Amino acid sequence: MLLVIVVLVVFVGVAFLQLRKSGNRVRILMYHKVDPSRRDMLTVTTEQLGQQLEHLQKQGYEFISVRNLSDVSLSTGKGVLITFDDAYVNNLEYAYPVLKEHKAKATLFVPSGYAGQTSQWDIAAEPLLSPEQLQQLDTDVFELGLHSHTHRHYGKLSVVEIEEDLRQNIQFFNENNLSFIPAFAYPYGGRPKDKTFKREMQQAMAALGIRFAFRIGNRINRFPLSNPYEIQRIDIRGTDTLEDFARKVKWGKQF
Ligand SMILES: [Zn+2]
Repeated sequence: MLLVIVVLVVFVGVAFLQLRKSGNRVRILMYHKVDPSRRDMLTVTTEQLGQQLEHLQKQGYEFISVRNLSDVSLSTGKGVLITFDDAYVNNLEYAYPVLKEHKAKATLFVPSGYAGQTSQWDIAAEPLLSPEQLQQLDTDVFELGLHSHTHRHYGKLSVVEIEEDLRQNIQFFNENNLSFIPAFAYPYGGRPKDKTFKREMQQAMAALGIRFAFRIGNRINRFPLSNPYEIQRIDIRGTDTLEDFARKVKWGKQF
């Protein structure tokens, strides 16, 4: 009897390790603003960003884009996707040179109704990239994704309202001849709690051609994804030290 138990435990253990090894892991980092001297929950300094990218390079991470999110090349488990929400002018002014210097790429999620205005939903409203600025971005570094049209919390809207908002978001890109990847970032990370409602929202997204949706969640994603509309991102804050950052990247969250 004891032998059977030991054999079973070993078997389950080996199977578990195999499963862990076979999963392709991708880290997805969520940033917002970059500033030369200011840092807070949503803002990293230019220097912090540089140190963080350097850390990723030293640790052998490979900068990827949403385009190659589900590539086989991710089998090393060292893929890292950098994302910026809201498409602030400071992403172009301050993040771009640092990204370029480190041969990194980033996805900007654009709340189209506010393009060229400011992030009025925020207490500290800051300028957002205009359609012209978005058109002129270096496509070797930046790719664009959807971040809703009106920057509202999707847990507080109906499916019909969500569908309309997404349609307007996509229309903005088409009208301005901007190419975008079929990926969406939930404003505030917000999604409906109710399962049926959530499924209906995901079906609406799929019908509009959206293949991936990003939330917050502070976990490392494994591929194949169990649900491509619930992709988790690690929240990077300007209040983190480089050690905090290193831990978050390694484990998905800070312990
Ligand atoms: Zn946002």
